Amino acid sequence: TDDVNPDQRFKGHDMLAPFTAGWQTTDLDPLIIDKSEGSYVYDITGKKYLDPLAGLWCTALGGNEQRLIDAATAQLKKLPFYHSFWNRTTKPSLDLAKELLQFFTARKMAKAFFVNSGSEANDTQVKIVWYYNNALGRPNKKKFIARAKSYHGSTLIAASLSGLPALHQNFDLPAPFVLHTDCPHYWRYHLPGETEEEFSTRLANNLEELILKEGPDTIAAFIAEPVMGAGGVILPPSTYFEKIQAVVKKYDILFIADEVICAFGRLGTMFGCDKYNIKPDLVSLAKALSSAYMPIGAVLVSPEISEVIHSQSNKLGSFSHGFTYSGSPVPCAVAIETLKIYKETNIVEKVNKISPRFQDGLKAFSDSPIIGEIRGTGLILGTEFTDNKSPNDPFPPEWGVGAYFGAQCQKHGMLVRVAGDSIMMSPPYIITPEEVDELISIYGKALRETEKKVEE
Ligand code: PLP
Repeated sequence: TDDVNPDQRFKGHDMLAPFTAGWQTTDLDPLIIDKSEGSYVYDITGKKYLDPLAGLWCTALGGNEQRLIDAATAQLKKLPFYHSFWNRTTKPSLDLAKELLQFFTARKMAKAFFVNSGSEANDTQVKIVWYYNNALGRPNKKKFIARAKSYHGSTLIAASLSGLPALHQNFDLPAPFVLHTDCPHYWRYHLPGETEEEFSTRLANNLEELILKEGPDTIAAFIAEPVMGAGGVILPPSTYFEKIQAVVKKYDILFIADEVICAFGRLGTMFGCDKYNIKPDLVSLAKALSSAYMPIGAVLVSPEISEVIHSQSNKLGSFSHGFTYSGSPVPCAVAIETLKIYKETNIVEKVNKISPRFQDGLKAFSDSPIIGEIRGTGLILGTEFTDNKSPNDPFPPEWGVGAYFGAQCQKHGMLVRVAGDSIMMSPPYIITPEEVDELISIYGKALRETEKKVEE
């Protein structure tokens, strides 16, 4: 609320903010969200906030889409639950699989496997890849390569794949079969005079070196978010995915696209793979798949992988994996309706119509003396605060510049994601031009206040 000292309030939140969810306690005076409406949420006191992170990069259709509420209600009345084990399943689950496979056109996909979250999707990927390599008689091809600063989830394997140290420390992670290669953040990591293309070539060469050092026969798969989300909204530099794909292909390494944030229009294309011409072997989905109205995630697999896994000649025994709520009918019914809305409202066109107002409006603040980089595409955007506009001059962490900015936004009625001095936004696709203007106006006010505080 307004009377909380933003400095103090955010200090506490910031210490816990990175990846602590789940502990339910009032010890730290949490902001309690009570209600949502379009692009807004309300706290328990009735204060209204613009929600430009769409919850957690997920409520793509905003807060009160009646069609999703109706789809859930109708399915709850008809069949609230049935599982998908032992060759039993439900119609919503089958229908959603069929629809999803038609939705994903970056390349042909053969089958969908449903889970409850992005983390479970990525854990499932590891099992599928291992099973596939076992079936092909190459059980030593087991290692995964992910990237520094990536985020793939919080379960033990998904956290291992993630390239954020906070997810590893105190948990004995990453697991030994996970390796990390370079983060493709051109602004932060390019060498003096190096072009984006040269930077991409260097990263692809580093990846190849890592593969050769480990032994190509031991590397099973490479996993990447098309645009890195939680790592700070990091866009791939020019030619990056083209060069990375050439390397993994050369060594018969599978490509897993973690589309948990990018899928369904976020980048101004239906999938991140469409935007960057990625031809993945496996795809992870969650979040906007149901506009977050119900927890559901999915893995899509290529025809080649599906054929090996489901081949009669495969002597491995069943792919023994699945969850009580895999393909549960209510989340599936909601996801089917979500995809229908994306199709009927031409969601990609909608995102492309509103995104220049969002991107250009915020990037106009790029010349602020405390902003190092503002980066984004479609309806996703990151701001990084640094001194002297340089990636090499971070503000002292104890200043809490990002946290202060976040607190000012909150004071003015907007909830952004803060991670250190990085600010992230991914508004719902239904955001209106007036709401974008409001977002930009609050961002501007908070920025001026933060600039003043830094000067003090
Ligand atoms: N993959 C990516 C790219 C994500 O951004 C996230 C969550 O933010 C996940 C996986 C994990 O998803 P979940 O939190 O649903 O387990």
